[in-house]
Amino acid sequence: MSKILIIYTGGTIGMIQDSKTGALQPFNFGRLNDEVPEINKFKFEIDTISFKKPIDSTNADIPFWLELASLIEENYFKYDGFVILHGTDTMAYTASALSFILKGLSKPVILTGSQVPIGMIRTDGKENLITAIEIAANKKGKVPVISEVAVYFENKLFRGNRTVKMNAEHFNAFASPNYPVLAKAGIFINYDYAALRPFQESNLELQKEFCDDILLIKLFPGLKKEVFNAMISIPNIKGIVLETFGSGNAPEFEWFVKGLEDAINRGIIIVNITQCIEGFVAQGRYSTSTELNRLGVVNGLDLTTEAAIVKLMMVLAKNDDIKIKKSIIIEPWAGELNISSSYK
Ligand code: ASP
Repeated sequence: MSKILIIYTGGTIGMIQDSKTGALQPFNFGRLNDEVPEINKFKFEIDTISFKKPIDSTNADIPFWLELASLIEENYFKYDGFVILHGTDTMAYTASALSFILKGLSKPVILTGSQVPIGMIRTDGKENLITAIEIAANKKGKVPVISEVAVYFENKLFRGNRTVKMNAEHFNAFASPNYPVLAKAGIFINYDYAALRPFQESNLELQKEFCDDILLIKLFPGLKKEVFNAMISIPNIKGIVLETFGSGNAPEFEWFVKGLEDAINRGIIIVNITQCIEGFVAQGRYSTSTELNRLGVVNGLDLTTEAAIVKLMMVLAKNDDIKIKKSIIIEPWAGELNISSSYK
């Protein structure tokens, strides 16, 4: 019989409306069985724990990711799978972070949440929760079907570190544009077995080192030289995720190229990812990106912004020299990028 642990971290799924302001805010989620009595019908054991202070995921930070990862580690041998109830706003960041922190994971960690609180009649939270539990408990023989961090939302299961939040209104809040959907839930839950990370007997080894001296710069036509220079000259910045246009293209203005060059000479690692929802960076495809190759900007391939940010924070915390750090960024750690998307 599978044993599942549900961890409530906060988010709309467990929110209630403030009687005065009407605003949604997290509350202590002790009544899961009251709200979703259906979970009592499962033939496996389900325990629930809640963060002492549940948060709106907008307030998530590195200590929050580490607290969540430690909770999973503490309970790792007691349970077959984990369901994390989390706000949708930064779920893709937490999913990316957990996929890298939980090195050697061989059990399901399924994040889910909802767009409408579980206490409201039209909630999408019940279906999300019930199917997420089922997926976390699914086994093929003795091994779990899923042995990675995934996001389940509105009938679909996605690889966590490939996920982006793409809808602020409708129930289909997530997508993984650069990776196939891992499973679709209808009458049956149909897994795309070829897309799943294969189960491997391994030891869980938490990676807890982060360096948050980083910056995300999204390019736009009209970006001013003074603004750009001010950003890249912020003291102590060690890494920049640069969201470029199309296949990784950036302006050829002299001040822009010089600014990047100076930053790189100061030891800053710059990772090039695309602003496009789908596709990958191909530095050198256009003349507007050949300069980036020359400067030593890292070609971030098909990393999502979320995965690139977390990965850069973790790489910068390592003691290796810059050349090694740059090469580690484009190594796949947990299925977050596709090396064959590199441009030749
Ligand atoms: N602001 C909420 C959160 O991310 C939204 C949600 O839960 O969907 O916690």
